Amino acid sequence: MQTAHGLIETPVFMPVGTQGTVKGVLPEALHALGAQIILANTYHLYLRPGHELVHQLGGLHRFMNWSGPILTDSGGFQVFSLGDLCKISEEGVSFQSHLDGSRHHLTPELSIEIQQALDADIIMVFDECIPYPAERAYVATSTDRSARWARRCREALPAGGEKALFGIVQGGIYPDLRELSARGLVRLGFDGYAIGGLAIGEDTRIREQIVWLTREFLPDEKPAYLMGVGTPEDIIESVKMGLDMFDCVLPTRGARNGMLFTKTGKLIIKHSRYAQDDSPIEEDCGCYTCSHYSRAYLRHLYLSREILASTLNTIHNLHYYSRLLSGIRQAIQEDRLAEFSHDFYARRAENRDQSEAESL
Ligand SMILES: [Zn+2]
Repeated sequence: MQTAHGLIETPVFMPVGTQGTVKGVLPEALHALGAQIILANTYHLYLRPGHELVHQLGGLHRFMNWSGPILTDSGGFQVFSLGDLCKISEEGVSFQSHLDGSRHHLTPELSIEIQQALDADIIMVFDECIPYPAERAYVATSTDRSARWARRCREALPAGGEKALFGIVQGGIYPDLRELSARGLVRLGFDGYAIGGLAIGEDTRIREQIVWLTREFLPDEKPAYLMGVGTPEDIIESVKMGLDMFDCVLPTRGARNGMLFTKTGKLIIKHSRYAQDDSPIEEDCGCYTCSHYSRAYLRHLYLSREILASTLNTIHNLHYYSRLLSGIRQAIQEDRLAEFSHDFYARRAENRDQSEAESL
């Protein structure tokens, strides 16, 4: 995938940098561990420090010292998660800031304007993220409106420019509404297509069915992005279904909560069995953390609530995801994804920390 700030090899995982920073990690470290693109949140940056300020100071790349590609979400997901604090009309959404209660009105056009001011390489259309579960009638009305908003976004940012615009398929868990949404977006023509409104509490099997059938309606030659997903398992299964892009707070938030990803599953660093453990998180990991620090030290930092715990844990987790995705890319090139997947599951059959990690 070519962007104004460089080439991206897919499938790709995008670390989440909500406030214009991947929490606790220097951009140099992100580059070193193989992060190709990061995600930033429009809602947060619009409210603070404000997209106009970021634009005046040279755009988000310069502001945050990240030279690689950036994808911004449309702000919709956060606005709609405000619940009662937001009000939807055909024009857009009125909401109150979670920071100071100030009133705002976000429209498809404003969302595009904000994302352009931030200088994102990949811009997402403004849509309603429908909660789960939701009545079919509501999902139909909302998906219809999101289609009209997608058209307004396309008009606000015409095709052919330097910035990519992605459409977002909605439709809840209803196959026919997903099909309608996907076909409508493809007719409008976008640079890529995201599957939105999933990973919000629905059963994994339902989600996989929806992803599978939605992907069928999207063009093979355009990138397909599964928003907010997920675990290493979710990513492998989604790649098999033809998905190319992923984002999730799991590796970064998990790291700050002391949950570390390894080939054999998750490792909870606070456990007493690591108190005197001089080995790295993972023997052959090769990340900065595993090259220099023991489990015992990482456990000590975590229990002492030291800032460095978050930094070192995040570096390891993002490196794990980076390596997982490069392994997947190589397996695809060598036409052995099934074998890769088989080995992946075989290694994590027995793991003591796994079940506890699910609740973190
Ligand atoms: Zn490591």
